[in-house]
Amino acid sequence: MEDIISKIKEAELVGRGGAGFPVYKKWELVKSFSGDKYIIANGAEGEPGVRKDEYILKNHSQEVISALELADKYLQAKEIFLYLNHKFKYLERKLKKQIRGNKKIKIIYKPKNAGYIAGEESALLSILENRHLEAGLRPPFPVESGYNSSPTLVNNVETLYNVSLVAKDQYQNDRFYTISGACFNPGVYKLKEDFSIKQVLELTKNLPAFDFFVQVGGDASGEVLNQKQINHEVSGCGAVTIYNLKKHEPIELLKFWVSFYVDNSCGKCTPCREGTYRLQQMLSAKKMNWDHFLEILDNLSYSSFCALGSSLPIPIKSYLKNINPDLSLT
Ligand code: SF4
Repeated sequence: MEDIISKIKEAELVGRGGAGFPVYKKWELVKSFSGDKYIIANGAEGEPGVRKDEYILKNHSQEVISALELADKYLQAKEIFLYLNHKFKYLERKLKKQIRGNKKIKIIYKPKNAGYIAGEESALLSILENRHLEAGLRPPFPVESGYNSSPTLVNNVETLYNVSLVAKDQYQNDRFYTISGACFNPGVYKLKEDFSIKQVLELTKNLPAFDFFVQVGGDASGEVLNQKQINHEVSGCGAVTIYNLKKHEPIELLKFWVSFYVDNSCGKCTPCREGTYRLQQMLSAKKMNWDHFLEILDNLSYSSFCALGSSLPIPIKSYLKNINPDLSLT
């Protein structure tokens, strides 16, 4: 079984949940801590503009389950959870058929009203343990103290899909890209992981002929880049959303981003709970105080308890910097 670790290491496989942590290291860390081991396949994506988990579970669930079995052989897990967005319930019959022989694997759904935060590693543990939903303090990380305070391997379903390819010597440094927005061919595509945004748009026949900008890494938390910046690699969860530069409504776009965070804040910390609400009020006011708006955004960056609150400044600040620098001068 050490062989799978060497193969994953050799393939230089990194996690696809967004953090890019080496997969072999995570598996080894879980094994290195004492106590019962647990495994969680995270397929609970909930950010607008990201649809790869659903695509993988729809088209490659057998590979995900095979990888869970490989992880189980390596870790001798006590229980395995397939943690899914409730919208994927329509796949349950197929998944149950595929896991029939393995009594350790249980399918658990992210509650309908739990919001985006419920897909975050520490927050999903609170759901599995039937606790009040909130992001947890880290460290310790789940590899050491996760489900039931035991060492827990949490891997995104795309990561597990790649592990199964590595095991079969079929991994070819590909990743899944979700393309959406103002384009003719939206969808999920599997292409080389080091492709630039431009290459991905060209190859999927989605490179616009009009003036545009993109948001990369999800419609809520992704960075916004202008047309001259699309030679960058696609970062984070591999999502690219295209906006028509002339047709978009700047304030409406800012409102969309802020509303997402207002709706998805778990309410645990003040900068996120109150800050996002205040930003929403400011965007609807007759006169905008940009200095105050930007100050609240800075506060979210520095003092939010988890990555949700500190993500809101990413789309807004990159939009103001790369697309519409005059907006905050009005
Ligand atoms: S930043 Fe937001 S989502 Fe995260 S713990 Fe604070 S209130 Fe909850």
